[in-house]
Amino acid sequence: MSKHVRRILRATRIRTLLLATTVAVVAASLPVGGHVTTAAAATTSCSAWMDTTKTPDQRAQALLAAMTQADKIALTQAPAEYASIGWAHYGVAGYIPSPDTSLCIPDLVFNDAGQGVGDLMTGTTAFPAPISQASSWDPVAQQAYGATLGAQAFAKGINIQLAPGIETDRVPLNGRNWEYMSEDPFLAGQTAAAVVRGIQAQNVIATIKHYVTNSQETNRSTDSSDIDARTLHELYLPQYQAAIQQAGAGAVMCSYNRINSVYACENRDTLTTALRTEMGFTGLVMADWGATHSTVASANAGLDIEMGSGTYYGTALQTAITNGQVSQATLDTMVLDILRPMFAEGLFDHPIAMGAAAQAAAAATPTDTPAQNTVAGQVAENGMVLLKNDGNVLPLTSPANTIAVIGGPATTPDALYTYNGGGSGHIPEAAYKANVITPLTGMQTLAATKTDAVIYANGNGPQFEDAVAAAKAASVAVVFAYTPETEGVDMSSLSMPPEGTHCELIGCTTGSGYNQDALISAVAAANPNTVVVLETGGPVLMPWLSQVKGVLEAWYPGQDEGDAIASVLFGDTDPAGHLTETFPASQADLPTTTTAQYPGISQPGDSVGPHSSYSEGLNVGYRWYDDMRLTPLFPFGYGLSYTSFAYSNYSVASAPPGDQASVSFDLTNTGKVAGAEVAQAYVGSPADNYVNEPLHQLRGYQKVTLQPGQTQHVTIALDPESTSYWDTTSQSWQPETGCHPVWVGSSSRHIELQGSGLDGSMQAVADCAASVSTYVPPVAAATVPVPVPSTGSASLTALLWGSALTIGGAALVVGRRRRRGRAPAS
Ligand code: BGC
Repeated sequence: MSKHVRRILRATRIRTLLLATTVAVVAASLPVGGHVTTAAAATTSCSAWMDTTKTPDQRAQALLAAMTQADKIALTQAPAEYASIGWAHYGVAGYIPSPDTSLCIPDLVFNDAGQGVGDLMTGTTAFPAPISQASSWDPVAQQAYGATLGAQAFAKGINIQLAPGIETDRVPLNGRNWEYMSEDPFLAGQTAAAVVRGIQAQNVIATIKHYVTNSQETNRSTDSSDIDARTLHELYLPQYQAAIQQAGAGAVMCSYNRINSVYACENRDTLTTALRTEMGFTGLVMADWGATHSTVASANAGLDIEMGSGTYYGTALQTAITNGQVSQATLDTMVLDILRPMFAEGLFDHPIAMGAAAQAAAAATPTDTPAQNTVAGQVAENGMVLLKNDGNVLPLTSPANTIAVIGGPATTPDALYTYNGGGSGHIPEAAYKANVITPLTGMQTLAATKTDAVIYANGNGPQFEDAVAAAKAASVAVVFAYTPETEGVDMSSLSMPPEGTHCELIGCTTGSGYNQDALISAVAAANPNTVVVLETGGPVLMPWLSQVKGVLEAWYPGQDEGDAIASVLFGDTDPAGHLTETFPASQADLPTTTTAQYPGISQPGDSVGPHSSYSEGLNVGYRWYDDMRLTPLFPFGYGLSYTSFAYSNYSVASAPPGDQASVSFDLTNTGKVAGAEVAQAYVGSPADNYVNEPLHQLRGYQKVTLQPGQTQHVTIALDPESTSYWDTTSQSWQPETGCHPVWVGSSSRHIELQGSGLDGSMQAVADCAASVSTYVPPVAAATVPVPVPSTGSASLTALLWGSALTIGGAALVVGRRRRRGRAPAS
């Protein structure tokens, strides 16, 4: 497909469809890593479990009966030569060879991660970071992306992809939030389910990680996340439940941290009670690399596979069985847990390359084809969030425009640290990818087709003389700024570090370059039309926000970053992303400002490590800002478009027995260009809020692409737990009686429609507006810029928190109710 055709398709906003189609073609065109037919793999001795008419469990039971004790033990641990030496098996993160190939058991080949096939694999595509994928709010595209990722993994001889990471973004300073999806567990769960479906459609098991409350990298191997059961169930488990129940995720990776003093990989409450009893998980649990700390406690708690250490399973596990500390039944259960997803996800029926020569050949096969690169660009565009666009400074106008591109991150070598995050998820581990299209190259290439001129300045002059001169010589200045984030290290601040700073697993090296905030201010002083492009893994502070006209959050956009950013800036593609994390106005506003919360403090008598108290309870992300009446810099769910949308004709429908309730409305594109809106449904708590739930919570959403003037009737299903809370006495979800308002908006603070609601049993209530009006008086208006339609009338009704909203002639006031700064009762 030519670039020209691709851009027309982008402009008409059928990206999702195209992505799905591209992925199907791309997946089919990738080299096949192993055998392809069931018949080829089956032998007479395997026929009892190679019968695909049987269920995965029946097949697993049949194979278990044929396995020796040594086979079973072998499946729970990598052999010594691969156990602790990373990359020992052709550069992958982990390897458990088949215990017995005559039983048709394939090798298990584990490799990272969520933004592509990484570790020491070469010739793979660096896709956008998971935070970028999630910011699309587009499950169709996310599933298609997952299929692309799974296809690359399979072609490389990998059958367990160590992705997606889905932990709740509790602490914005966490160095791994770019690997996760959101501060909201519902959004993280829907995104996770979509990615898992995609990966597992390629005969590759997906791994949801790092289970659970793995909220920080500081002291990650010793810290205890001290959390109450209600907070755990309402904010940290739902995304795992969604990925398991909606998508059949085959593997869970338990995390490094402790949970309420017990290591995550030997924690029976989370590994067995929550995961298996409550969520019904039937797949395998593997330890994060080196996160196993015991034999007996781990096996009895529900850990199936030790990874990254060769100490606790294997011989030690057999000894524990012989001694009666671990039962034979427990070992058999562990083996069944491992075999079930192997059968369910096609690992037996479509095995990867087996044998050293075939695996080496698979590893050497490049998978980064032009078509895969196209997917990378499309995912990046779909996730970019336009945060500010005063005076419609974007899209850039053509022809004959002069654009100053400014900043180190726009060019090589800084692009190495900005196109994706660091650590085990980095693509690749240790070299600059030759096929990265830097922002400068992307801008120059696209500008050339529009007869625009691009001039470049790095910004490294002592007083930014080069950047100021370039900005003065241009009609618009585009400054690139970044924050490098990595596994292994948390950020010390939400301020951007000096230019040249880079981070990887072993730590961060502070750059000797310029102060990025100061550069932006200097450029903004020189050119009133200044746009900032951010390449960050999460929220950053923006002291210069009022000085610039435009801000585009591009996240870590992957190797096609230059094309994707240029396409959005020039308006060939409408920015389509919305925030999955709140951007705070100040670091002091974060919900975790005490040392006891983060990074934790030591406790008398506990020599293992510090404790982080999750004392903020349910007040994570936007729930905290709502409850404390804080005005964020940009709220959860926020994102602008080059067009505008109007919401009308709203109604709420009851849940039929055992089904979901829904909210319906009309959405109209009132602008002059095609664009996509992320319509979000929030369910509030009743006025008396006797169980102290957050003010409102995301319970459904839909991304809708509309042509100019087009109207679509939208129906959003509402999560079955929308009006319930986790009751710690009965240890179950219980309805909160009263009227729960149902709000529809374009962000958590831009509510467009309301009036009706649901009772605790998810039955529609027509006059829920009355309870809304009883809320306490309004809070200060947000400073968040209201979307400015690029054309047409100002039909986009923006509700700034606490201001009056007129619907159907009735003025409603939204403020906050009881429950300020209180953690839930546990
Ligand atoms: C990371 C995991 C990763 C594993 C294997 C660990 O350090 O925490 O996310 O999958 O290494 O590379």
